[in-house]
Amino acid sequence: MAISYPRKAPSGIKVIIVGAGFAGLTAAIECHRKGHEVTVFEKVAELKPLGDIISFGQNSSRMFERWPGVVDKLLPIIHTSEAVEFRDWTGKYVTTQSFADEHKSWGRRINGHRGEIHEILVDTARAWGVDIRLGQNVAGYFEEDGYAGITVGDEKFTADVVLASEGVKSPARTVVLGHEDLPKPSGYAVYRAWFPSGELAKNSLTAKLVDGDTHTGWIGQDVHFLVAAIKGGKEISWVCTHRDDSDIKESWQFPGNKEDVLKVLQGWDPVAHEIVKATPPDRLFDYKLVFRDPLPTFISPGCRIVLIGDAAHPFLPTSIQGASQAMEDGAVMAACLDVAGKDNVTEAIRVWEKIRYERVHKIQATGVTTREMWHKADWKAIWEDPTRLHLKREEWILNFDAEQDAYDSYDKVKASLGTQKNRSAEVDTSDVVIDM
Ligand SMILES: Cc1cc2nc3c(=O)[nH]c(=O)nc-3n(C[C@H](O)[C@H](O)[C@H](O)COP(=O)(O)OP(=O)(O)OC[C@H]3O[C@@H](n4cnc5c(N)ncnc54)[C@H](O)[C@@H]3O)c2cc1C
Repeated sequence: MAISYPRKAPSGIKVIIVGAGFAGLTAAIECHRKGHEVTVFEKVAELKPLGDIISFGQNSSRMFERWPGVVDKLLPIIHTSEAVEFRDWTGKYVTTQSFADEHKSWGRRINGHRGEIHEILVDTARAWGVDIRLGQNVAGYFEEDGYAGITVGDEKFTADVVLASEGVKSPARTVVLGHEDLPKPSGYAVYRAWFPSGELAKNSLTAKLVDGDTHTGWIGQDVHFLVAAIKGGKEISWVCTHRDDSDIKESWQFPGNKEDVLKVLQGWDPVAHEIVKATPPDRLFDYKLVFRDPLPTFISPGCRIVLIGDAAHPFLPTSIQGASQAMEDGAVMAACLDVAGKDNVTEAIRVWEKIRYERVHKIQATGVTTREMWHKADWKAIWEDPTRLHLKREEWILNFDAEQDAYDSYDKVKASLGTQKNRSAEVDTSDVVIDM
C-alpha cells in the first residue's frame, strides 16, 4: 500500500522517464509530488547495490530532507565525519578542513555507498506509488507535434515529455543533437574500492584510520588518494585519481589491479600502501574518466525530449556535484511543468533549459579547478598557507534550493525566451568551453 506523502492534485501531464539513476529517480519523485503522471523505464532487471562512494552536497541533500522518512533511513549508512584531514604524499600532515559550520548554516551533506542510497530511494519511491518498471530497455525515441515517445521491444509509449536520464552513454543524445557525440578521454582515471575494514583495524599503521568515521586525503604530483572510513569505521572506501591515457571505458565495474595502484603510489606514505594491499582484489575497480564537450542544447528540436543528469552533462568526480546536479535537473523540471501546466509543456521545457544550462556548466568546470589545485599544487605556497589545499565550498552552489529558485525565476526566464524552440537554434553555443 502506498504511504501517503504530500502530493498535488493531478496536473494531467504525462512524463516518461528513461533510466532510474539519481537523475531519473529525482525527476520521478518530484514529478509525482507535483501531481504529474510518471512512468520510469529502467533497463536493468534487478537493481543491485553497485558502486561505491557518492556525495550529495547540501543543494541536493535538501531534497532527501524534503521526502518524508528518507533521511531517517539514510542516517545509519551515511558518513558522519565533519572534517577532512590532508597530508602530503609522504604522509606529512598538512591541514584539516572542517565542514561543521556549513553543516550548521547550509544543512547536512549526504555521503555514502551509491548502491545502498539508491536502493533506499527506489524502495521509498515505489512505496509512494511511483511507477518504476525494471527490465525495460528503451531502444528508440520519437516526437510528433504535441507528444513524444519511446519504444521498448515492440511496444510504443507516449507522453507529454520524455526525460532521458540514461547516464553517460545516453542514446538520446543522438536524437537531441542529430549526430553521434563521442566521449573524450579526460587524461585521468580513478582506482576505486569499498570493503570491510577488519584487516585494517588489526594493522598498527592503519588502525587509527578505521577507529570511527574518518576522512583523509593524500595529495601528490598529479595524483590524489582519498580515503573515507564509514559506518563507525567498519567499512572503508578509497579513490585514487591519476594520469591515464589508455582507451576509453565507460563502465563503473572495470576490474582494477593492486600492483598498478602501488606503482602509481610509488614513494608514497606506507599507510596508503597498506590500504591498497588490504583491498580484496574483487573490490577494486579502474574507472577511466571520460568527458564530453558541453552540448549546445539539452532538448530535442520539438522540445519534448529532454536530456537530464549525466546524459546531458557528465561531471568529473572532483566537482563533487555530479549526482547533485542530476537531482537538481529533476526537481527543476517538475517545478517548471507545475507552473506551466499541460497546455504549456514545451514552454516549461525551454524555461527549464535556460534555468539549468549556465549553472550546470559553471559547476561542471569546478571539477577541473579542484583537480588542478591538488595535482599541480605549489607546495612552497601550501606550507606557507595550508588552507590552499581546502576544497572551495561555494555558497552559490551549495546553499541553493533549486526547486524554490525555479518557482521564483520562472516568469522572468519565460519573458527572456527567444522565438526559436531550443537553445542551439537561439544562441552562439561557443560560449561554453571547459578546458580539460
Ligand atoms: C551502476 C552504477 C554505479 C555507479 N557508481 C557510482 C559511484 O560509486 N560513485 C559515483 O560518484 N557515481 C557512481 N555512478 C554514477 C552516478 O550515479 C551518476 O554520475 C550521477 O548520479 C548521475 O546520475 P544519472 O541518473 O544521470 O546517471 P546514472 O546513475 O548513470 O543512471 C542511468 C540509468 O539509466 C539506465 N539506462 C541506461 N540506458 C538505458 C536504456 N536504454 N533504457 C532504460 N534504462 C537505461 C541505467 O541502467 C542507469 O540505471 C554510478 C552509476 C551507475 C549506473
